[in-house]
Amino acid sequence: MNAPLPSLSDLVVERVGFGIFVLDRQMNVLMWNRFMHDHSGLSAEQVVGKSIFASFPELPRVWLTRKLESVFQLGSFAFSSWEQRPYLFKFDHDRPITGGVDFMQQDCTFMPIMRDREVEAVCVTVSDVTHVSIMQREREEAVAKLQEYADRDGLTGIANRRYFEARLRDEYTRWQRYGGELSILLFDLDHFKKINDQFGHVVGDTVLREMAQRVAHVVRAQDTFGRFGGEEFALLLPCTPLEDAMLVAEKIRNTIGDRPVDVQGVNVPVTASVGGAAARAGVPAYEALINEADAALYSAKRQGRNRSVAFI
Ligand code: GH3
Ligand code: MG
Ligand code: MG
Repeated sequence: MNAPLPSLSDLVVERVGFGIFVLDRQMNVLMWNRFMHDHSGLSAEQVVGKSIFASFPELPRVWLTRKLESVFQLGSFAFSSWEQRPYLFKFDHDRPITGGVDFMQQDCTFMPIMRDREVEAVCVTVSDVTHVSIMQREREEAVAKLQEYADRDGLTGIANRRYFEARLRDEYTRWQRYGGELSILLFDLDHFKKINDQFGHVVGDTVLREMAQRVAHVVRAQDTFGRFGGEEFALLLPCTPLEDAMLVAEKIRNTIGDRPVDVQGVNVPVTASVGGAAARAGVPAYEALINEADAALYSAKRQGRNRSVAFI
């Protein structure tokens, strides 16, 4: 005798691309579709009629029981997103190994099955949303990277002017509210045009990179060091009075001028002039602090370069 043909709805339930299973009030499995079989390795024959926790002891028992209880009691749908709970079942995913995603990420719905106004069972669906979670992760990484690029200068890798000014504005606001000390230094390489003219622009670029690296090594982690433009750099020194900032200025000037930059065997001597200024009563805004440091820098240039001058 031929076995009876499965109904159309049975065929659909078997073939859909997501998991469907049904539990009764005692957490016994009443139905288990092909997707669940394929991904768990346990067939309907093996799990139906038994507690789901007997077949899958690693399931989050407390959480799942509470979720199902609420559906039995309220008769309303419940949902669980991969963003709150990445997976219910530890299923492998079919994606190439991608950082961080260990198991198939799952969205689950919990649907009451009513008979005579009573919830007789709960139908659970399990959707594979690994691709969504990977895309989300990649997007977050891309945004973080863009954020990082947005704050950096392309040539030297140190902070750019936009980031430097944002930090200065924050520190200035803090200083206005709480007082204390806050200084900035602006420094500009001397006769840099000549370096470009004599050795070429590519060598000039290498000198800028090397200078940025040398200075980055001698500044404190709490200070913000940025490229202000062209061959001009800036250093923000929170909690630092002007006298101390000028000691740092001398240290930077020496770091730059101590030894020439070696660019593929060519020695390029470089010096810098530095201007320093500190926040004090009567300076209306952080921009004024930049102008004062710039005026001091201009004065250092006028006095013969390769020196540091404080704005007073
Ligand atoms: P000084 O500051 O001592 O008065 O003289 P300077 O020759 O350095 O004068 P100025 O500041 O006017 O010129 C800066 C030069 O720096 C102009 C430009 O050719 C060069 N420069 C600016 N940005 C870059 C860059 O990204 N790469 C290279 N190679 N050169 C740059
Ligand atoms: Mg210059
Ligand atoms: Mg300049």
